[in-house]
Amino acid sequence: MANFRVHVLGAAIPSALAAGLAIAGGLVTPQVGGVCFGLGVLGGMLPDIDADNSVPTRIIFGALAVVAAVVVASALHVDTAPGLVALAAVAAFVAIRVGLRGFTAWLCVHRGLVHSLPFAALVGAIVVCVAAQAFHLGPTQAWLAGLFLTGGFLVHLALDELFSVDLLGARMKRSFGTALKLGSRRQLLGTVMLYAGVIALVRFAPPVDPLVRDVTSKRTRAAIAATLARLR
Ligand SMILES: [Zn+2]
Repeated sequence: MANFRVHVLGAAIPSALAAGLAIAGGLVTPQVGGVCFGLGVLGGMLPDIDADNSVPTRIIFGALAVVAAVVVASALHVDTAPGLVALAAVAAFVAIRVGLRGFTAWLCVHRGLVHSLPFAALVGAIVVCVAAQAFHLGPTQAWLAGLFLTGGFLVHLALDELFSVDLLGARMKRSFGTALKLGSRRQLLGTVMLYAGVIALVRFAPPVDPLVRDVTSKRTRAAIAATLARLR
């Protein structure tokens, strides 16, 4: 199993490169690009939230709870009484800090469902929906934000698999094959719920076509080439 520092670096380097390209290509504003980078790094830490009391677990749930409180408050503040906004923000904080953490602890044996491909898709899909609904980002930026989180998550799973191969002895450790998987036979119900959640969120998310069009467009490539030329 790869350690915490390997996971943070392993996610940070490709995230920084990808965010730089996305900004250079004009796909995201610099602010959103920065958030995308942060999401990529977060994705690299996120899978180990199933290791009950690890440092990343405490950091991540604390941070997620704060983010949830801010999202709820900024979504409500326009036409809700300040007292209610504060109450809703506190409720969101507690729901994440206590509720979600308890739920994941129940859901996951370490290296259970959380270390799986559908979970990687689920967290990304949640970000796409939140970015579009709560922060009113356009489809391209919203999808990119979700892809960064899923991408960091996938890097983590790949690193876990890599480190479960004993490089010197060239033999597999017992943990091989426990990180990159499509689900868990021992947690069938949870696996089905995961896939259902991903499908529901993707249907609720904005269309993905604008992202595909923007990423493959000549204008994006030209903008990236122009930025690179200026750097030289
Ligand atoms: Zn892991």
